[in-house]
Amino acid sequence: MKRKLLVIGSGGREHAIGKKLLQSPLVETVYCLPGNAGMVIDGIQLVDRNESDQKFIASFCQEKEISWVFVGPEVPLIDGLVDFLETKGIKAFGPKKNAAIIEGSKDFAKQLMAKYDIPTANYETFTDRDDAIAYLSTQELPIVIKADGLAAGKGVVIAQTIEEATQAVDDNLLNNVFDSEEPKIVIEEFLVGKEFSLLSFVGDSFVYPMVAAKDHKAIFDGDKGPNTGGMGVFTPVPYVTDSVYQASLSKIVSPTVDAMKKEGRAFQGILYTGLILTKDGPKVIEYNARFGDPETQVLLERLETDLVEVIESILDDQSLEVSWKNIGFDLGVVVSAKGYPNSYEKGRPLNIDTTNKEVNLFFAGVAKKNDSLVSNGGRVFMAESSGATLEEARRKVYEWLSKQQLTDFYYRTDIGK
Ligand code: AMP
Repeated sequence: MKRKLLVIGSGGREHAIGKKLLQSPLVETVYCLPGNAGMVIDGIQLVDRNESDQKFIASFCQEKEISWVFVGPEVPLIDGLVDFLETKGIKAFGPKKNAAIIEGSKDFAKQLMAKYDIPTANYETFTDRDDAIAYLSTQELPIVIKADGLAAGKGVVIAQTIEEATQAVDDNLLNNVFDSEEPKIVIEEFLVGKEFSLLSFVGDSFVYPMVAAKDHKAIFDGDKGPNTGGMGVFTPVPYVTDSVYQASLSKIVSPTVDAMKKEGRAFQGILYTGLILTKDGPKVIEYNARFGDPETQVLLERLETDLVEVIESILDDQSLEVSWKNIGFDLGVVVSAKGYPNSYEKGRPLNIDTTNKEVNLFFAGVAKKNDSLVSNGGRVFMAESSGATLEEARRKVYEWLSKQQLTDFYYRTDIGK
């Protein structure tokens, strides 16, 4: 029977997931809750409801006979949506609450890595402001201060001076700027090296690692300016050689999956390891319990196996040969509202060509107004393409961008350079 599927989330990541699922001959309908107006171009059906409304999601699945749910973002995972759906007999792809903590608490993640000898930066955890300040005076600069809980990508400060570090400690432990129930911070060693992301489909018996990807978090060219949700991405990553890739799998990904099992927190879903290639090999900078945005948009372009089969292999614990495109590169550039990641305007008309076959579009912060798309968020959409070389993929995306009317918008000009 052809499946009806539900994707939870509203960003470019969920657009990419929905689009890929719809390419499967096994699929009849893909719903996305709440989704965004740009997804409709690709045939995804929107469900206008909040992703925190667990009861509604369960009754929608029952009413529409949804085969399974793909939970995109971290918040519903950490809130236990997968656990709730399971109590209603509904299958969902994504970690349960007790495993999503690997993203939900930096302190948990650091303790796990320490206990199971998974390479990462040295650290200490603090809840007391004075203890944290005393510790800072014994450490070298720069130093990294991380809020323990979710902070929408704003919880990490790389302090170059003691004043900056003190400010970050005070913001968290005195002023509780992230409105945490129990303010806590991790202070860790600053690691030097090139970063990359390695994502894996993880099930009870199988791990299917993806190709390495590189995202660009900073807003301005040359990786300058404040961090954003991600302004561009490419895959594969030339400096992730076969030996770096194998070391990342054997020293980080597999031990993490095993460690979670030993802790009684078996992880099922997408395990995202944010890694840095130091002189001592790859080390963990962060874990996420879900697909990354913008990585998903390029990674799923490289997946040759039917995504439905991959997910069902994991949900049903049946083995599968998963194959990836192994030639060329995929690259994506995010177009944002001017002013993002600080304040920006919404409602700007988006006049872009959506018919070019060489460039894939993944929509994020968009809405519909009088039958056309307008901006409705910080990151508005991504333009993505592939090429035999990174340069060719880059050229295709930037050539297309240069032909669009994007004066009200902003994008970096150096992705993949
Ligand atoms: P996170 O939110 O944990 O991914 O951190 C955001 C960014 O801060 C990362 O992508 C890195 O560029 C940087 N970062 C975090 N931790 C460290 C570290 N220990 N050493 C160097 N850079 C770091």
